[in-house]
Amino acid sequence: MLTRPSASIEDVLKVLRLAWVAQYDAPSDIRRAIALLRRIQQEAAVSQDVDETIAGLMDELDRTSRLPVAERKAGIERVANHLKALQPRLDGDTAPAPPKGALPEQAPPKRTKPRQAHSVGSLPMDAPVHLLQGVGPEVEKKLGKLGIQHIDDILRLAPRRYIDFTNTARIGSALQTQGDVTLRGQVTEIREVHGSGKPRVTMRLYDGSGSIRLTWFNTWISRQIREGDEIYVSGHLEFAYGTLQMTSPEWERVGGPHISTGRLIPVYPSTQGLAQKSLRKLTRQALDATRTKIIDPLGPAVRKALPERLATALMPLEEAFEQLHYPEDEAAAARARARLMFENLLLLQLGLVHRKQERKSVNGVALTVEQPALSHFYGELPFALTRAQRRAIAEILADIQQPKPMTRLLQGDVGSGKTVVAATIAHLAKQNGFQTAIMAPTEILAEQHERSVSGLYAALPEEMRPTVALLTGSTKASERKKLSKALLAGEIDVLVGTQALIQEPVMFHRLGLIVIDEQHRFGVRQRSLLAQKADGYAPHTLSMTATPIPRTLNLVLHGDLDVSIIDERPPGRTPIETRRYLGAERHLAYDLAREEVAKGHQVFVICPLVEASETIEARAAVEEAERLQNEVFPDLRIAVLHGKLPAKQKDAVMTAFRDHEYDMLVSTSVIEVGIDIPNATVMMIEGADRFGLSQLHQFRGRVGRGAAKSFCLLLADETGPEGEERLQTMVASDDGFVLAQKDLELRGPGDIIGTRQSGLPELGWLEQGFDSRLLDVARETAETLLANDPGLDAPELLQLKLRMMTFWSSSEPDEGLS
Ligand code: ADP
Ligand code: MG
Repeated sequence: MLTRPSASIEDVLKVLRLAWVAQYDAPSDIRRAIALLRRIQQEAAVSQDVDETIAGLMDELDRTSRLPVAERKAGIERVANHLKALQPRLDGDTAPAPPKGALPEQAPPKRTKPRQAHSVGSLPMDAPVHLLQGVGPEVEKKLGKLGIQHIDDILRLAPRRYIDFTNTARIGSALQTQGDVTLRGQVTEIREVHGSGKPRVTMRLYDGSGSIRLTWFNTWISRQIREGDEIYVSGHLEFAYGTLQMTSPEWERVGGPHISTGRLIPVYPSTQGLAQKSLRKLTRQALDATRTKIIDPLGPAVRKALPERLATALMPLEEAFEQLHYPEDEAAAARARARLMFENLLLLQLGLVHRKQERKSVNGVALTVEQPALSHFYGELPFALTRAQRRAIAEILADIQQPKPMTRLLQGDVGSGKTVVAATIAHLAKQNGFQTAIMAPTEILAEQHERSVSGLYAALPEEMRPTVALLTGSTKASERKKLSKALLAGEIDVLVGTQALIQEPVMFHRLGLIVIDEQHRFGVRQRSLLAQKADGYAPHTLSMTATPIPRTLNLVLHGDLDVSIIDERPPGRTPIETRRYLGAERHLAYDLAREEVAKGHQVFVICPLVEASETIEARAAVEEAERLQNEVFPDLRIAVLHGKLPAKQKDAVMTAFRDHEYDMLVSTSVIEVGIDIPNATVMMIEGADRFGLSQLHQFRGRVGRGAAKSFCLLLADETGPEGEERLQTMVASDDGFVLAQKDLELRGPGDIIGTRQSGLPELGWLEQGFDSRLLDVARETAETLLANDPGLDAPELLQLKLRMMTFWSSSEPDEGLS
């Protein structure tokens, strides 16, 4: 995991966004932005003009905070735009300035003993980083925060981008070159300037054809470079005060190691207190030290299992590391990345396929499909199953007739009718003499399931009808006791509940089927605890989720499960009308909400997304609720829901809203998936352009559950073209899978991975743009390798196996229900 510097421009932008979307009085956000900027100014070794720009922006913000509310927006916007322009100049190159009076890490204590970058000899990949030169306890700690402990981790630290310093020139003709340039010359006229601003060092560089002024805002540079030294400098040429100059260029001694000038140089992810230059020295050392020691986990045995074209295109690992950090050109860097990406995808798939095999290797119970019982059940349903529902049921039936436990995920949009699928299988389990446990993440969802499942069974003849019961945290002790007895005696067929189901005293007579709704809300451990309630065999498990995921990503996130998809909605629904309102049109949306309330309906309001923290988000929701109550809807009953409320209270608020004690529910994005409030007809989303499409779609699914026509109102201030495209897509499409695919194209896998199930290794690397064809090949290769050798025990696969174990060791089975 990457730690970031204590404050970044991105943080400031987030806070400003919050101040900007808030139509109400929010000077405290502006003050927070000023404080963050001050911290950046203090911590980052920025050039003087950046320093002055930041100071100017702080002033402007201060003025803005004292303006009347209505006039603040323009000021905030102006500052935000400036900051965005400034961002690339700070991005990645920001390192805290050395504490006053102390020498920075990278400064050699004495000029007479310059550190050589590659004098550490030969090291194995698993050697600890402190064996590299320049890694003392301090640096080691900082590297640790980046998840870097071994040489191997340094080698795998992928640069975020490269700066192209390959363009070399003579100083006399340098002005004709474009962009960044590398110069070589001799240093003269070194001066330390201690004036009113930051102390700085200037020097001149001569190469016979001309001279240029170099400026650094770090006085320690004058202890590193002496007059007469021959150096290379790489950087951006400026022409100011009648002379050519470069500010804080990269520099290197002629004849020394060549890692920061005259080539593509790597820029690593922002790193707390580690200068880019120090990181470059570390990666260079690590590459040199391991040169003969790199063991490629994709050895000949693995390559044999690959399609031939890929096998020849994959760089050997040693070359891939070299080209990743110090590439010949961008194309070589891209091939190195693809090589390392493929390796990660393969390791991921090996783990997933292996897990799947393990699950299938234990005993299950084969159920028989009692066709008459099924037909009877279908005959009593108030509707005909959709084709997608029948297909999902058929896939499940094929699984449960095997003497191996089913591990299937049922994916279907909100309202696609997953419950009846689960009820069908539970009914079948009962006909086979087995019990079913249905677990939902909240009490209100559990109650809802209990009601709808009982409802679906109601028309069955008594001898066939499964007995349904409910167990949650609120179930009274006396009731609980009765329930436990009945459950153990086999008098209850379907037990619906919350996490209460996995607690100790709950014992089943014969548990045959587990249904887990909104499975991503549960941790791996919680899911497996329920399975342990069966004795001597593993029950069948049907997980359900309303989060549609593009097929490719299913292979990543659910690669250890079989997946069934319901991609069709039951007929006869009144479609939800989606509209968008920009800027001042907001009051039209308010009018519509008011009309709906006047008809006796209810309204959801979603607050803007705030990534900064849940606390800020919660506060913003409370303030938005107050604003709506005081300024817009004084006559309505308004409740507020956010992630900082304890689970019990969240449930209480939802229940009260369901029971129509409120007209309007103002909520952060925590609002419950799957909740059924047919009387709610308006979903109003503030700052809609900032949410992912899948998430907007989830919100939209909260309404349209009753007979009345429903509305989804997307509110945004002026949007950029990308935000605009997203809103258009929402208006145009009502298909969760289409929207998820679009999300993937527009925003990359990050949003979707955010909803990942626990128990997977860190997946951040996937965001570096992965190719789904590579993923397919990785999957097939993993299947082939494991089919031939389920334990990867062959000696020629040893390196692959070791690497896979390291790769998966970062996976934490979390506790879920965050
Ligand atoms: P979800 O997939 O979101 O859990 P539900 O199972 O809650 O969806 O179903 C939503 C609603 O659709 C329920 O009221 C259910 O009775 C109804 N329903 C399910 N299947 C059909 C169908 N084939 N035809 C008509 N209505 C259906
Ligand atoms: Mg549901």
